[in-house]
Amino acid sequence: MSASETSEPRHQYDVVVVGAGFAGMYMLHRLRGLGFTVRVYEQGGGVGGTWYWNRYPGARCDVESMQYSYSFSDELQQEWDWSERYAPQPEILKYANHVADRFDLRSHIQFNTRVDRAEFDESENLWRITTSDGRTVTARFIVLATGCLSNARMPDIKGLASFEGPVYHTGNWPHEPVDFTGLRVGLIGTGSSGIQSTPVIAGQAKHLTVFQRTANFSIPARNAKLTEDERQAFRNKYPEVRRFTREVARNGIYTELPDRGALDDGANERHSKYEARWQRGGLTFMSVYNDLGLNKAANDTAADFVRGKIAEIVADPQTAALLQPRSHPIGTKRICIDTDYFATFNRDNVTLVDIKSSPIEEILPRGLRTAAATYAFDALVLATGFDAMTGSVARIDIKGRKEQTLNQKWAEGPKTYLGLMSAGFPNLFIITGPGSPSVLSNMIVSIEQHVDWIADALGHMRERGLVVMEADEVAEDKWVAHVNEVAHGTLYPQANSWYMGANIPGKPRIFMPYIGGVGVYRQICNNVAANGYEGFALTAAERGVMRREAAVPLL
Ligand SMILES: Cc1cc2nc3c(=O)[nH]c(=O)nc-3n(C[C@H](O)[C@H](O)[C@H](O)COP(=O)(O)OP(=O)(O)OC[C@H]3O[C@@H](n4cnc5c(N)ncnc54)[C@H](O)[C@@H]3O)c2cc1C
Repeated sequence: MSASETSEPRHQYDVVVVGAGFAGMYMLHRLRGLGFTVRVYEQGGGVGGTWYWNRYPGARCDVESMQYSYSFSDELQQEWDWSERYAPQPEILKYANHVADRFDLRSHIQFNTRVDRAEFDESENLWRITTSDGRTVTARFIVLATGCLSNARMPDIKGLASFEGPVYHTGNWPHEPVDFTGLRVGLIGTGSSGIQSTPVIAGQAKHLTVFQRTANFSIPARNAKLTEDERQAFRNKYPEVRRFTREVARNGIYTELPDRGALDDGANERHSKYEARWQRGGLTFMSVYNDLGLNKAANDTAADFVRGKIAEIVADPQTAALLQPRSHPIGTKRICIDTDYFATFNRDNVTLVDIKSSPIEEILPRGLRTAAATYAFDALVLATGFDAMTGSVARIDIKGRKEQTLNQKWAEGPKTYLGLMSAGFPNLFIITGPGSPSVLSNMIVSIEQHVDWIADALGHMRERGLVVMEADEVAEDKWVAHVNEVAHGTLYPQANSWYMGANIPGKPRIFMPYIGGVGVYRQICNNVAANGYEGFALTAAERGVMRREAAVPLL
């Protein structure tokens, strides 16, 4: 479909991809395989996205590495050796670099270049894309592989700029090692990054003060080295694992499917099942029963179990009580996976400060002051998370039809059809966007599904001489309503989570990801494609406008 092969208006690239994390890399690989001309822009200096930026101590995946890895190449999954059950960040970054080299991706990626603006030219049916180096290129399609957790959120705390020591954000960590030896460290935030980094920083620092607004549920990772036998056993069953994670699992993770609810078992039986999962460690704790996300009474049994574990581990009853989450049902905020997090609060050099009851009033040059006390430290770590799912998209000035910007359209919350496209923004695709399972899943499974679907759609268009693809507004409205309806049938909206945009002041409270399950969602997307891209309008320029108003009978 490149310009030289057709009589259509000239454009420099068939596709511009924004971002070179796992999504952008695989998108590039697929599109090149189909013979499209592709340019990837990445604001960072290398590939890997999340794993390029999040270099904080203790950073590692919480989906097991044998599963948190690409499946598109059997050679790749057979030859790569994961060293641990949950690989640490440097190893995942090494893997991303290996993939870039093995599939010869680098020469198509322009690093250290941010996409600032993208404007749809309705007369020529192409995107004009302006980058931070001041250039503008044209492309038929643009794919936003900008990441759901890639816009590190600096908290708006009075006096932050006045802090005299070093300030680190976990989501934008320096490339050179940071040594906290002999230092007093303040750490704000107890989400996943705070929970992963706390034990490691505590082991190094003279003193660590952890400032907690919301206690979070965390399950032990039980991380360990993988033996060659374990790796091989897993590799042998890859066909079944990958099939299950794509087609059956709700969250893209290989595990037993629960066949009963928590209240179907008596207290002793239930306790021993929770205990077994606690001992096994990891994210499958939540799939011990099939109603933990749906039924508050069932959920309470799991939450009580974990609160009981915290009380057992943490010696000081007051600290244990503070660490016990009570503000949300278990699992409705991203559940954390830790190594020795709760036990770290038994160390003499660690203090937990509750900033829910006594909020931070001001950062001082050498510490901070809450409503109750003043705390001194030499270095500050901000584990304050991300403007999730929409943050990185919103930072690009995207203009679609009739000069409407995506930020205007999404002012009341993101609106997409299948999480893949937004009506009024033709030929613009989003990978793991709001309205798709995305952050509720093993994201590599969801990334591969979206990339394959988009690549197939572009191939379909090329074969038929179609030039413009666009989500239909009716289909989009129905999908948004469906995403909301499914979410509100669960306990998830009860939590003030980043799934709801609740961590960003002023952000609309909408449950953003699709909670219907990875397998169900894939089937819906496949059906849409099989029915001639139902709910999308496809246009062939040379035949004039060929708009198909789709019936949208999906749900
Ligand atoms: C600490 C941490 C641990 C995680 N662990 C897991 C896990 O165990 N399992 C799991 O499933 N998921 C995990 N995730 C989620 C993780 O983000 C995804 O698994 C996956 O890495 C996302 O890949 P991506 O390519 O979609 O996005 P990213 O990896 O975020 O990559 C997006 C890239 O786009 C670039 N970009 C954004 N905007 C622009 C722009 N305007 N111009 C140019 N470049 C731009 C960014 O610099 C970034 O490099 C974790 C996330 C974090 C932060």
